[in-house]
Amino acid sequence: MEQSEPMATGYFSHPDCLAHDMGAGHPECPERLRAIAKELQVQGLDGRLTPMDVPLAGNDDLALAHDLSYVLNLDDFLQQLEWTGETRALDPDTWACPGTRAATWRAAGAAIAATDAVIDARLANAFCAVRPPGHHATHARTMGFCFFNNVAVAARHALDKRGLRRVAIIDFDVHHGNGTEDIFAGDDRVLMCSFFQHPLYPHSGADQSASNMVNIPVPARADGAFVRDVVKSYWLHRLDDFRPEMIFISAGFDAHRDDEMGGMRLVEDDYAWITAQILNVAQRHAHGRVVSCLEGGYHLGALARSVAAHIKVLTEF
Ligand SMILES: [Zn+2]
Repeated sequence: MEQSEPMATGYFSHPDCLAHDMGAGHPECPERLRAIAKELQVQGLDGRLTPMDVPLAGNDDLALAHDLSYVLNLDDFLQQLEWTGETRALDPDTWACPGTRAATWRAAGAAIAATDAVIDARLANAFCAVRPPGHHATHARTMGFCFFNNVAVAARHALDKRGLRRVAIIDFDVHHGNGTEDIFAGDDRVLMCSFFQHPLYPHSGADQSASNMVNIPVPARADGAFVRDVVKSYWLHRLDDFRPEMIFISAGFDAHRDDEMGGMRLVEDDYAWITAQILNVAQRHAHGRVVSCLEGGYHLGALARSVAAHIKVLTEF
């Protein structure tokens, strides 16, 4: 009998995600993905990852988490920019350029393709190095650099298209994932667990809105010890009670101490520890199924090293 190959960690990224450019000096910049790719090479982690094709998302998949007219209107608007070459603001933080449409549909497409590959057991788990990020995008609105909520789209794909019954979403970005909460509050097939600095943009999440939301506000200057207590005290027993069949990670790295977008003080080891906790839960309940998607993280060095620490743990499970 042939020995099957041990399952690998998939790496989903695409050159189209570099073409989304919100203008000089914007922190959510193409260099973020280049810094990550370079660090993975420097640390020799790229050889441990399986590079995967990234398709464009289908509008029907996007509409699993978003209002269909929002999807279609955004599609029209971004196609116009492809023709005119203009860069235009969609909200005070979120700008679109001629490269935005392809990047946006690729970012969500990566999350969906990663979900399928993990559910089909072609991969053990996956990381999507994509942009634009997603967790501020609500059911029908761009917000905070986000157009489509990549993780929300993938989670609904797992539930509605692939027949999973329960999925968890973990969000360790420094900012509250208001878009994810907007989409899933009251959807009892989903358990969302996060911590986020409060008060801070988008100034939401501190008032618990629904029983499937475990969003824990933490003060500025909260460090790794503080966050590890939050994970142990608030997340893990809820996750074990919920028994998710798959776990999605909104992997933002802007709670790093070097990242000036927030005031928290995490370091690379903290991201590795959190990742290991999540993977342990996934092994207990979900056949190890984890899909992680990049959200924030704006200090290029801290971002790249933290993503590498996160991915290293993914490859070790
Ligand atoms: Zn953030």
